[in-house]
Amino acid sequence: MTKDDYDLDNIIKSSFEEIIEYFNKNGIKIEGLRLRIVKSLWSFYDIFIFLFIILLFICTILYYAINISMRYPLIIFIISFFITVGYLLFLYERNQGIYFLPYKKIFIIKKQLDKTVNRILDDLSHHNIKDSSVISIKSSKNSIVLYPFYINMKKDIVNDIVKTITDIVVIHETTHYIFGIDEEKTSVFEFLVYFYKNELYNYSEVYKIIEENIKKCKAYIEENKRLDIYELGRCYGNIIIHKNKQLTNINIKDIIEEIKNLSKKDIINVIKNY
Ligand SMILES: [Zn+2]
Repeated sequence: MTKDDYDLDNIIKSSFEEIIEYFNKNGIKIEGLRLRIVKSLWSFYDIFIFLFIILLFICTILYYAINISMRYPLIIFIISFFITVGYLLFLYERNQGIYFLPYKKIFIIKKQLDKTVNRILDDLSHHNIKDSSVISIKSSKNSIVLYPFYINMKKDIVNDIVKTITDIVVIHETTHYIFGIDEEKTSVFEFLVYFYKNELYNYSEVYKIIEENIKKCKAYIEENKRLDIYELGRCYGNIIIHKNKQLTNINIKDIIEEIKNLSKKDIINVIKNY
């Protein structure tokens, strides 16, 4: 399986438009959010400029207003700028997307997205898929929560996979518009929107994957002290889906209200006791 013939730029753009439309259709207005597709993290020149200005501002205040004595203010400024940029590059090294709040902009990083798509296609090439069926896919190498995915033999599977992975990333980043920088709530919602938008409730097999996910989530919480906030969010999303097993759709506006005031502790307790 290869994806060389696919135009990732166009897939990302259509995914973004579809998701905004889905939100609007469900009564959630997403206004002024913009998309930028970048090759890699090094393309974030505008964020670096933003940082440059902020740091310059902080350094000027420290130097003049508060009168903090600095022997070499320019050198200190330059060093702190490069340390900040270096830290951010390290932090977001594996990110496929970033939501940048001050610009109301989502960035999709093609290089990382490509890597994930290739890994999943490579995994799938070892399976002998003959009929349309539900399988599970891992959005990142170490993820605990798996995404149910319906393989439709009548359609182009490779294209479907590229679109699905792109959708997950775009849904996540778009959801930040609602929950700001809160990664747990964003991840709860990301899983839910992925599930209901793709109408996965139509396939009874998906609930086996959801149940398996919940089991793994419970064990994960018992066995680990430092918990991944993205996984916690997706775990909680699986519980909401399982609780609403009979429903073919959920009111995503109600879900926002339900999870808006949840704390990390609440999420952990719900998963533990489910
Ligand atoms: Zn995020």
